[in-house]
Amino acid sequence: MEIVPVDQMPSKELILPVETNQGDKLVLMEENWVPYTALYKEFTDMEHLCKHGDLPGIGLSAAQVGKPTQCFVAFIDGEWRHFLNCKYKGMSTKKNSMEGCLSLPGRHFRLERYSKIKVWGNELVIDMEEGLKIIEVSRTFSGLDAVIMQHEIDHHYGILISDIGKEFEMRRR
Ligand SMILES: [Zn+2]
Repeated sequence: MEIVPVDQMPSKELILPVETNQGDKLVLMEENWVPYTALYKEFTDMEHLCKHGDLPGIGLSAAQVGKPTQCFVAFIDGEWRHFLNCKYKGMSTKKNSMEGCLSLPGRHFRLERYSKIKVWGNELVIDMEEGLKIIEVSRTFSGLDAVIMQHEIDHHYGILISDIGKEFEMRRR
């Protein structure tokens, strides 16, 4: 798995929610029903790219590794978490944000983000008794967590910070 160039990322029309069959613990990936462990492997590979890639990242969306699914990993609440099928709605005014993106290495953009959002979707978690499990997410995020969630969910809709932000030069001191 590797981060693909922007022009090789799947277009927004192709990025689909992940269908799940919770009873059999199967997910539909690239037209095949596969066990949750296959989805977990994708997530942990993406997490590995954030931690050990050429540039460190605090979030990565499946589209960035060329996969047309609504999945992303993000460092939220102080831990790496695995989200799928998420949507958000702004619950506050917008504030200035300065962001980079692993798909736009070395570039920085100024844009506006909600400081508080509500998110609906799913998360893949490990339950001590049940093993891998997909749970519902319906909660608010604020501060940096809200910014990370907006950035990653925007990737599901083909939105990059270069589309909605203004590039600036990072001055070295
Ligand atoms: Zn990004």
